[in-house]
Amino acid sequence: MPDSQRASGSYTRGMKHAAMRIENFIEEVWVVCPHCSATGYIRWAFRGSAQLVCPTCSATRERKVNRWTYGIAFDPFFQLPLRLQTPLKMKTLWAYNPAHLAYLKAFLLDPKRDVAASFSSTVVERLPRWLLTTRRRELERAFARIERPK
Ligand SMILES: [Zn+2]
Repeated sequence: MPDSQRASGSYTRGMKHAAMRIENFIEEVWVVCPHCSATGYIRWAFRGSAQLVCPTCSATRERKVNRWTYGIAFDPFFQLPLRLQTPLKMKTLWAYNPAHLAYLKAFLLDPKRDVAASFSSTVVERLPRWLLTTRRRELERAFARIERPK
């Protein structure tokens, strides 16, 4: 996909969104640093440990990961609040990192919402009904809020 399409989230007619698993988006998770509230980064390698690094205050944290929680506006490893989140319809729109956000935006703002069928448990299949039924205008405003520099 050309970068111009990726950036604008627009797709040519008939193009399907790639099927992605949430695992594709959790190698780096953007969180609110528990010490200074700047953006911290959690990096995780499959079957390895998760490491939090904050470039602003130099805070670090590490833990061995044997299970993780998906589906809430907190990181799966330390349960820190995600950096990329915004209120929407009394709930929360969130993403683990800019790539995850760009994927959700491209899918949700696409009227066709067509995903290449390949396997189950994709990111899109796990999206809650309230989000899938949110009107386009509301989604556009929410994405504008979440993309605003903090
Ligand atoms: Zn910090």
